[in-house]
Amino acid sequence: MGIFKLPRQLLNELNKQVRGFWCGQQEKEHKIHWVSWKQIIKSKKSRGLGIRDFELFNSALLAKQGWRIISSPNSLAAREGLVWRVGDGNSIEIWNDKWFPQPSTFKPQSSIRFLLSDSKVAMLIDKTTNQWNYPLIEAIFDNTEVDFVKRIPLSPYPTSDRMLWKGTSTGIFTVKSAYYWKSEMENQKQGQPSTAIKEDLPWSSIWQLSVPMATKNFLWRACLEAIPTKVKPHQRKAADEDSCPICKLHPETAIHALWECPFAQDVWSQYSKKIQKFSFPCLSFKTLLEGCLNTFEEEEMVEFALMAWKIWKRRNEVIFSNTFSHPSSIIQNVKLLIVDLNQTHQPVQKSSSLSNVHLPWEAPPQGKLKVN
Ligand SMILES: [Zn+2]
Repeated sequence: MGIFKLPRQLLNELNKQVRGFWCGQQEKEHKIHWVSWKQIIKSKKSRGLGIRDFELFNSALLAKQGWRIISSPNSLAAREGLVWRVGDGNSIEIWNDKWFPQPSTFKPQSSIRFLLSDSKVAMLIDKTTNQWNYPLIEAIFDNTEVDFVKRIPLSPYPTSDRMLWKGTSTGIFTVKSAYYWKSEMENQKQGQPSTAIKEDLPWSSIWQLSVPMATKNFLWRACLEAIPTKVKPHQRKAADEDSCPICKLHPETAIHALWECPFAQDVWSQYSKKIQKFSFPCLSFKTLLEGCLNTFEEEEMVEFALMAWKIWKRRNEVIFSNTFSHPSSIIQNVKLLIVDLNQTHQPVQKSSSLSNVHLPWEAPPQGKLKVN
């Protein structure tokens, strides 16, 4: 995969298998897509699950090969993801190369004045001081661009120009950053808002909680309104009514089912005092979780996450097995789970730190697909 561009048909087939697993969509089946594929393939920091889209990943691996060639100076021309770090300016053309700290084009936009179209950045540097030649810069660029140039630091000693990779803060190429960078470019092409830089709550924090993976997955879905509440099928005209199956009073959104429903409040009100005080109105479950993350310690967050998860499980029991657990039994259940988690603390901790350990890849048994 890192050497050849694989046929699109094969890559699509691989994507389809993974999509079927995560989105619950089989061919010719018309289930509701609770979470879109585009959402799933975003990085965890950008509200996704970090699952790789095979076509983009293939492309990112190929780019790694490309990087080996490009990173040697004077080789192939600068490609999309590369920018110049100005040293002595001898290798960089002012108007044609990407060296400007201005996102998207990374090139000056002022029309060419006084200098030739292939003039080098070296001409803008005063050789005696190794600083920018301000009078010349002010003569050829407009005010905004003059500010951009002034922001580029120059070494007091002549150094050669270097190419840097835009996708990481260090400027060093990694396959992971290339993958997400390409994915971001695709989004921008389709006019979708940028997500690569935004790392807002609660997306990263959910995955760091010391709770079972199923609970994290549940919180992530709830924040995206992607748990199967009554409201969504109703909006899509797949269900007749949208009212909460327990209180039957209000439309069942995620925030209603997990927090606002009088029966959910019955549970919360019997729990820790800090959670009881936490009664400000919330627009969505995501806002509620953000508020909790800003207020609660790790231990309280674990309790909150498990409670919300158990309240959702109780709601499902009402629908699927017509049983309704008493609030105290939910609380008891959560307390036992916490004891369990604390006793098996090591394995839980390990699972989060495992991602930093490089385990050798093992092939799956015959007839099975593995997606890592
Ligand atoms: Zn309700």
